[in-house]
Parts: sequence; C-alpha cells; structure tokens
Amino acid sequence: MKIPVSMLSSYLYCSRKLFLERVLMLEEPPKESLVLGSIRHETYDKINKKEEEIITSITGRMELSEIQALYRQRYLQMLRKSIANNKKRLENANIGMMYAYKKSFSFIAEESEMRASHVFSFIEANDVFGRELWQKLTPKILSELRLDSSILRLKGVIDQVHVYEDDYVPFELKTGRTPQDGVWPSHRIQIAAYSLLLQEHFKKPVKEGFVVYLDTKEKRHIAINPFMEEEISQLVDEIAALLEKKELPDYCENKNKCVKCGLRQTCYNEEEVNKLLKVKII
Ligand code: SF4
Repeated sequence: MKIPVSMLSSYLYCSRKLFLERVLMLEEPPKESLVLGSIRHETYDKINKKEEEIITSITGRMELSEIQALYRQRYLQMLRKSIANNKKRLENANIGMMYAYKKSFSFIAEESEMRASHVFSFIEANDVFGRELWQKLTPKILSELRLDSSILRLKGVIDQVHVYEDDYVPFELKTGRTPQDGVWPSHRIQIAAYSLLLQEHFKKPVKEGFVVYLDTKEKRHIAINPFMEEEISQLVDEIAALLEKKELPDYCENKNKCVKCGLRQTCYNEEEVNKLLKVKII
C-alpha cells in the first residue's frame, strides 16, 4: 500500500480525524479557506503550464513594465478561468465569484510581478529572447508533479518543483495561519516526504525545500537532513497500522484544533461514532 503524503500531515494534525475521514468516510463541510486555496492552486498550475508560451512570446527587448503587463494579463485570465471552473464548489461554500476574485487577486498579481521581474533580470543579464530565453531560463517550475514509490511506500502531488541545472527544490503552497518561526511540523514532514520522492525519481540529492504561506506571503526554508527518511518511514508504518487495525484513536490533545474542526460535532457524539464504527468495521 502507498500512503498519500497528505495523509502524513493529516495524521500529525489529528490521528482521530484521519481515522474519521479515511475509515469512517466522514467529510468536512467545505470551508472558505479550502475552496479559495484550491482555486489558487489551480491558478498556479495553469500559470506554470502557460509559462513557456508567455516566455517564447518575448521575442525582443521589452521594458520591465511591458513584461509585467504581459504576465499580469495572462495570470489574471488564469485566475478567472479557475474561478469559473470552481463555480459549483463556491456555491456549496456560499462564496460569490466576485468575492473569490477579490480575495485571490493580490496573490496572483504579486506572483505575476515577481516572475516578470525575474524574467526581465534574466534577459538583462543574458541578452536572450524567445525560444532561447525559455531554454536557458532557470529555475523552470514544474507544477502539480505526481510521484510515487514502492520503496518509500508513498505517493503524492508536489505543488511546485523549481528545477535548476542540477537541483530540484520542492515548494508547498499553503493557506491558513503562518507560524511565528519556521514551518508547522506537518508541513515540514510533507516537504521531507516530497524530497525523498524527488530524490528517488530524479536520482539527485535534494537539499532543501520551501513552504510558501500564501496569506502572509512568506516563504519559509526547510533544510533536508538524513534522519528525515527514518522519520517518514516510521510515520508510514504508524498510518498503515492505524488503517489496518481500525481502532478509533483518542481525541487530540490540542483542543484549539477541535474548535476549528469541521468534524467536531460527529467526533464528540459517541453514539453516532459507535454506530458508524459498527456499520463500517464490523
Ligand atoms: S474534533 Fe478534535 S479530536 Fe475530533 S477529529 Fe476534530 S480535531 Fe480531531
């Protein structure tokens, strides 16, 4: 069995919640942050797939403001498409399309400026355009990269991989609260697991990764160390045992998590949980 990397972070967050979702098949009601987060993900994915087209269209010297306008126009077009694609999900979460656009606009506009500035500086330094510019430009960004490994017993989709000449750097894009320092433990584990998958797939050591906290626009660094492989392997064992044994774990210790949890009502309703356990397990 291959464990999805997202399950590692869910397990660390609350093993009981993972059990309720994966064994008792309960679903959290759609949350605004989750729906807007997936719209941003989808937009970044579309953008990355269009990057070659944008860059090869730069066939001669342009002002920074012109490149920025080119990027901005394409990026916002992608955002509008993603919002339209998610119309049903937005309706289910009671979110208007205009509201979703306003909430996502600044992230996407800023990203477009950042990438445009990077391309402008690269052109200034290397004096290349069109296809040659695309071939020489680093980093290139692979988006939503799907990898799996029987050796690691893991599978997952990496939000972004920045590809340099000899380096692969995983990036995770996260909505929600930003920790004061560093990254949340579950995000650290996710990056570690993706690094292992990348290492195995591309046969190159991965030395670092990043978590981008979209709401505060902060990019946090994670150094990959050799002990992480053991840590991940232990977690995979624990999750496999949890799913196999089908024993409901105890409530999580941090009650703040319960306050925000969409499964709270069922989770604390012993009678209902017992009923579900009987139906799903016995
Ligand atoms: S209510 Fe608390 S213990 Fe129950 S699943 Fe949610 S976070 Fe876990």
